[in-house]
Amino acid sequence: MRILVTGAAGFLGSHLAERLLDDGHAVVGLDNFVTGSRANVDRLRGRDGFSFVEHDISEPLEVEGPLEGIFHFASPASPVDYLEIPIQTLKVGSLGTHNCLGIAKVKGARFLLASTSEVYGDPQVHPQPESYWGHVNPVGPRGCYDEAKRFAEALTMAYHRHHGLDTRIVRIFNTYGPRMRPGDGRVVSNFIVQGLRGEPLTVYGDGSQTRSFCFVDDEVDGIVRLFHSDETQPINVGNPGEFTIRELADIVVEETGGGSTVTERPLPTDDPKVRRPDITLARELLGWEPKVSLREGLRRTIPWFRDQVEGGDARART
Ligand code: NAD
Ligand code: UDP
Repeated sequence: MRILVTGAAGFLGSHLAERLLDDGHAVVGLDNFVTGSRANVDRLRGRDGFSFVEHDISEPLEVEGPLEGIFHFASPASPVDYLEIPIQTLKVGSLGTHNCLGIAKVKGARFLLASTSEVYGDPQVHPQPESYWGHVNPVGPRGCYDEAKRFAEALTMAYHRHHGLDTRIVRIFNTYGPRMRPGDGRVVSNFIVQGLRGEPLTVYGDGSQTRSFCFVDDEVDGIVRLFHSDETQPINVGNPGEFTIRELADIVVEETGGGSTVTERPLPTDDPKVRRPDITLARELLGWEPKVSLREGLRRTIPWFRDQVEGGDARART
């Protein structure tokens, strides 16, 4: 297949592009580098079957040649990023998704949307099954991301029902691994960089809020399985192992050498109190479940951050 991956310079998009190339597909990567890195594209450039387009997908685009698949991954994903560029975030979730769906329709390509656990907002059902409609504050600061993704899901389903487009929706839960930007502001990148630099780990609030962290190889495998399945309903792909942010901090301190302390900072507005995927559908319909534990995944991730910290002035972003 020839497959378009938007957001290919980002953390997940670059891993996904690599996996698709490994599977023997040709990949057209697309990105405008708003939160991605040129290094991620450079590592793909040498590979047979890879080409790249620098473009803002919120603007229309004509893609040359045939396409059999589109993975729409372009969007800021770290709260620190999307709170800085809320309008671009709303545009890429809405106009960017519309442009990708239009390309999929013209080319007759299968379309997969990177959606998010954030469609559940600050959930009142725990763990979260796909049937839960969520609890999102549309006018709060996180609304720019959550509502863009909810709109993107609605638009994807409208193209599916109205135009008969072949679509997939993955609801991705907190994913981490090598190639996250050291300064992207998410909790795993912040904590590892702080731990490696011997700085205090910045826990927001009292650290009792929970998240469920999935290692990137597991996540990408679930996404690729969904793409090749027949499931057009949204599917959660994440690791159900749930940890408080305090517990995560303690593990990261241990794994980065034990030299750091923990300090508290104010909790951001509308920060979800709990999050854990119900992955019954992924298990039953995709035969997928994560294999890598949090501690093992951190051990596979820390060396990459160590290189960044030793090689330059990589810093956490709080
Ligand atoms: P990332 O910030 O590392 O990557 C996003 C990429 O999209 C970047 O390279 C950025 O430059 C690009 N991009 C943003 N707006 C663009 C635009 N208008 N035109 C072209 N390119 C644009 O984030 P990530 O963690 O790799 O997330 C990728 C996708 O997965 C996002 O859609 C995100 O919402 C989704 N997701 C990620 C997670 C996670 O834990 N990583 C969780 C849920 C959902
Ligand atoms: N968080 C934290 N310290 C940090 C960054 C984040 O305590 O330096 C918390 C944040 O408040 C949230 C959780 O960690 O409760 C996960 O945050 P992240 O930004 O990684 O993603 P989210 O799941 O909130 O989108």
